[in-house]
Amino acid sequence: MSEKIDVEKIFGIKVFTLEKMKERLPENVYQEVLKVNEEGGELSYASAEVVAKAMKDWAVENGATHYTHWFQPLTGITAEKHDSFVTPPKKDGKMILSFSAKELIKGEPDASSFPSGGLRSTFEARGYTVWDTTSPAFLKETAVGSILCIPTAFCSYTGEALDKKTPLLRSLEAINQQSLRIVRLFGNKEAKKVTVSVGAEQEYFLIDRESYLNRDDLVFTGRTLFGAPAPKGQEMDDHYFGVIRERVGSFMTDLNVELWKMGVTAKTQHNEVAPSQHELAPIYEEANIATDHNQIVMETMKRVAFNHGLTCLLHEKPFAGVNGSGKHNNWSLVTDNGVNLLDPGITPNENIQFLLVLACIIKAVDTHADLLRQSASDPGNDHRLGAAEAPPAIMSIFLGDQLDDVVTQLVETGEASHSLQGGVLQTGVSTLMDVKKDGTDRNRTSPFAFTGNKFEFRSVGSSDSIGSPNTILNAIVAEAFCEAADRLEKAPNFDDEVHDIIKEYLTKHRRVIFNGDGYSEAWVEEAKRRGLPNLKTMVDAVDTLVTEKSVKLFEKFGIFTKSELESRVEILYESYIKTVNIEIQTMIDMMARKYMPAAVKYTKILADSINAVENAGMDATVQMEMLKVVQEKLTAMNEALKNLRMIEEKIKKISDVKEKAFYIKDNAVKAMEDLRKPTDELELVMDKSMWPVPTYGDMLFEV
Ligand code: ADP
Ligand code: MG
Repeated sequence: MSEKIDVEKIFGIKVFTLEKMKERLPENVYQEVLKVNEEGGELSYASAEVVAKAMKDWAVENGATHYTHWFQPLTGITAEKHDSFVTPPKKDGKMILSFSAKELIKGEPDASSFPSGGLRSTFEARGYTVWDTTSPAFLKETAVGSILCIPTAFCSYTGEALDKKTPLLRSLEAINQQSLRIVRLFGNKEAKKVTVSVGAEQEYFLIDRESYLNRDDLVFTGRTLFGAPAPKGQEMDDHYFGVIRERVGSFMTDLNVELWKMGVTAKTQHNEVAPSQHELAPIYEEANIATDHNQIVMETMKRVAFNHGLTCLLHEKPFAGVNGSGKHNNWSLVTDNGVNLLDPGITPNENIQFLLVLACIIKAVDTHADLLRQSASDPGNDHRLGAAEAPPAIMSIFLGDQLDDVVTQLVETGEASHSLQGGVLQTGVSTLMDVKKDGTDRNRTSPFAFTGNKFEFRSVGSSDSIGSPNTILNAIVAEAFCEAADRLEKAPNFDDEVHDIIKEYLTKHRRVIFNGDGYSEAWVEEAKRRGLPNLKTMVDAVDTLVTEKSVKLFEKFGIFTKSELESRVEILYESYIKTVNIEIQTMIDMMARKYMPAAVKYTKILADSINAVENAGMDATVQMEMLKVVQEKLTAMNEALKNLRMIEEKIKKISDVKEKAFYIKDNAVKAMEDLRKPTDELELVMDKSMWPVPTYGDMLFEV
């Protein structure tokens, strides 16, 4: 039996929580911290000095030797540089550890060493990390010891955002202000703040570390660039929610403990659709903290997997032909006096505030469908979106029967007189208790689905930060709220105006609502008829950040300046180019040094066998046929390899990043597929003992 885990006792022990601050800080300083946390604003320098000392004392008592400003540059992962608390020794040789407000508040990493999209060059390299007082400091225990991690925002010397956190924080301020205007209009005078709640469900794969290390493609690119399907895939539906195997179970136990200690509310765990695929969902929390916590979840998954002789793959599509991984981003808005603006209540038709909020969100998603799609793009997600396993690249909203009916009533008659109710589930078994049904069924194929009291944005990639999707969601909804509030605050008759706005928005933007099968070809056609954008790849979506409409939106709410947007465009193109380029190099390398030599050896064995069999006076037709097939595949591989090398040369010659990215998308991706195809076919006809790398069957079914 495993040891008892005292979850209540260990939860948050590695976090410098408000509770710990209350114990350790003088009352006046604690009150100041609390106020900043609840109402925003800045902590005074004098108080920061006191907080720094208390934070250091707590960290050192808990084994920390170093601290780091923990930040999220545009590399897609977090960054940290460790500094110890060590100070110069006194004359007698004694040394006292210290940590000052200055060190807590500001750090100075070299900004030119992180992607800046031209905002920072090597000769003007200064960048700052700035303490984010709204996300708690925590201890990270790894092989380098226990490190005090201070969540920070990362900006250039001139104040431009160089990370994912800064725009997210700006967007949270915008949505707070605009949401407050809406709730005030509906008579809520008490609310001081509206926060965004986010719960990110994280999918991942676990494979044996030995296998991983023998696959250069996984090591260098995070996904398999070659690999024939295993005889069994996910067709039996026996993995989803299946019994968790022992090795995975012990990984999950350790993962939960580590996460709970760091204050992450790991809640749900289960096997996912594909073999070796799993999911973890925490309980939702404030968006900025949820974003930091999702980074912690991803990092911790990798570390704990390593300790179990496993490797955690967070890539969106590690294995062709089986389900990829995503991250459902559950999003809602809640006032500090406990009202969820996305809660329809029992009778949504009577809940005017909810209907206005809903109408604004529908308008926002329709108006900025392109931006929302962009926010969920990364190179890996190109292999997933629109592949009939993940939502399509077309953004649409699923409302479900109940709300769809209310919207229809409003659009068609101007009034909504009733709401469909769920009723009672009929199981046909008298001993089963009555269960109330929801007013609405689920739809797994929708990218943006209303699920009870929140929207679930399902397009986000598993390896991506949820910073960008939430920044965009907050921004586009803030804009719609702002426009509605502008009208309502001036309206002579509030009731008439709110009625008109709801009807107008729903009528105009209803085209984005789709309750059918998002995976079907028919929807692609239908969406085209409705004029909805279908940005198929990451590269197609990049420029949506700098359209006139986007720049206006972001500048209006102070979320991005035009130059910040331009820099991001450049970084996105660059990251796509670099990612695919590494994939190309890896393919060429594996081909030249692994697959082709193995195939050549096998042809020799077959040829020798033909000679031997014939010398023995027997018919070698079978061996000849086998040799012929292998030789054919080898020839095709050689041709495709030459072609990919040629394309690689062409890529090198293009200097403009956008042109290069499009060239890669339009040519290299196909050339890579062409190289993969004969190689995977060869795998299926070659002696397994001579195959140079672990197969899909080895990797997906051994843990
Ligand atoms: P699913 O059935 O899609 O797995 P769950 O109800 O289990 O959905 O919730 C998935 C995620 O959504 C969890 O992280 C959960 O905490 C989060 N969630 C639930 N309610 C809200 C809400 N009001 N706002 C934001 N996230 C929420
Ligand atoms: Mg979900």
